[in-house]
Amino acid sequence: MSWQQRIEKTLYQRQQQGLLRRRSAVTLSTQATLRSGTQLFTHFSSNDYLGLSQHPSVIDAWCKGAQQWGTGAGASGHVTGYSPTHQQLEQTLASWLGFPRAILFTSGFAANQALVFALAESNDTLIADKLMHASLQEAAALSPAQYRRYPHNSVEGLARQLAATESENCLVITEGVFSMDGDSAPLSTIDALCRSKQAWLMVDDAHGIGVVGEEGRGSCAQQNVQPDILVVTFGKALGVGGAAILCSDAVAQYIEQVARHLIYSTAFPAAQAQAVLASIDLVRHHPEFRQQLTRNIDLFRERCRDREIPLTDSITAIQPIIIGDNHRTLAVAEALKTAGYWVQAIRPPTVPVGSARLRITLSAAHSELQINGLVEALSHAL
Ligand SMILES: *Cc1c(COP(=O)(O)O)cnc(C)c1O
Repeated sequence: MSWQQRIEKTLYQRQQQGLLRRRSAVTLSTQATLRSGTQLFTHFSSNDYLGLSQHPSVIDAWCKGAQQWGTGAGASGHVTGYSPTHQQLEQTLASWLGFPRAILFTSGFAANQALVFALAESNDTLIADKLMHASLQEAAALSPAQYRRYPHNSVEGLARQLAATESENCLVITEGVFSMDGDSAPLSTIDALCRSKQAWLMVDDAHGIGVVGEEGRGSCAQQNVQPDILVVTFGKALGVGGAAILCSDAVAQYIEQVARHLIYSTAFPAAQAQAVLASIDLVRHHPEFRQQLTRNIDLFRERCRDREIPLTDSITAIQPIIIGDNHRTLAVAEALKTAGYWVQAIRPPTVPVGSARLRITLSAAHSELQINGLVEALSHAL
C-alpha cells in the first residue's frame, strides 16, 4: 500500500470509529474562559489547575525577563543557553523539592524520554504502571531494556513483576497523580517494595506538583516518599511550560553527559525560567490557590451527587466521567459545547478501549456559578 493510500485509509477508519482528532484554535483568558471563533466558553479541560497561567506576577516576570535578556536562549545549555536564571531555577527546585540536583528540560515529554534513554541498557528492566504517560511508554518500548507493565496501581502486580525480574538494575516507574483518571499511586507501598528489591523508583508528578502536598511539593512529599528520580513539569499547575528531572548529584552529572534531549536541544528562554520562578513562589507561599481548588472540587462532586451523575473515586482536580462509547462521548461533549461549556472528550488510545470519557478538570479560577452551570448542563447532556 502506498503512503498516500495508507494515510487516506487510516483517516477514513478513524473517522468511522469516532477516533479522528482535530485541534481547535482557542484564545484563553482569565476566569477559566476561552474564545473559539466568535463564541465564548467556560472551559473545564485545562491543566492550569491554579489559574497561574493568567497570574499578573507570572506574566510580569516573563515580560521583564524578555526585556532584560531577549526572547530566545540561543543555544543548548551545553553551549550558551544556560543562564544564571536557569541555574537559579534549578537550585530553587532542588531546595523546594528536597533533592541534591535538578536539571531543566524543554518539556515533560523530553525529560521522560531523556531519562529512560540515559539509564536503560540491554540487561536492565523497566517496570511501569499500565496507565503511564505516552512519553514514558514509548521511550521504554524503544529502549534496549526489558519493559514490563503492571495493572494500574496494583501493588500485587508490581510485586509479581519485581519477583520475575533477574536484572541487576530495575527501574519502577509511576505517575504521582494519573493524568486521565485523577487517582494517586500508593507511593509509600511502591517505595517499600522498590527498597526491598533494590530497585530504583521514578515518579512522574506532572499532575501533582503545585497541587498537592505542603507548599505544593507534590505527591511524593504528600506521601512522605523520596524517589530516586522525580520528574516535574511546569506547563500544568505552574502555568508556564518546561520540566525538570530531580535526582542525585551523580545521576545529574550522568544526564549532563549522555542525555541527547538536553545536549542537542535549545534551552528554553531565561524569561520563561523567570516566569517559572515567579510561579513557584506563588505556589509555595499562597496556599489559598490550593484551598480554592479543593473547595471547587468538593463543590463539583457534591453537585454531581445531587444530580446522580456517576463519578469515579478521584479526589483531585481531574474528575473523569466515563462514558465508554466513543461516539456517545463526542455527542455529550458537543451538547456541552452548545450549552457554553468546553470539556474534552478523551478517547483511545489515550485511554483504554471502551473507556472513552469526559475529562473534566477543576481549577481555582472557576467560580461557584460556573461549576453549578456545568453540572446542570451535564445532567441534561448525559
Ligand atoms: C503532560 C504530561 C507529560 C508531558 O509534559 P509536557 O511538559 O506537557 O511535555 C509527562 N507526563 C505526564 C504524566 C503528563 O501528564
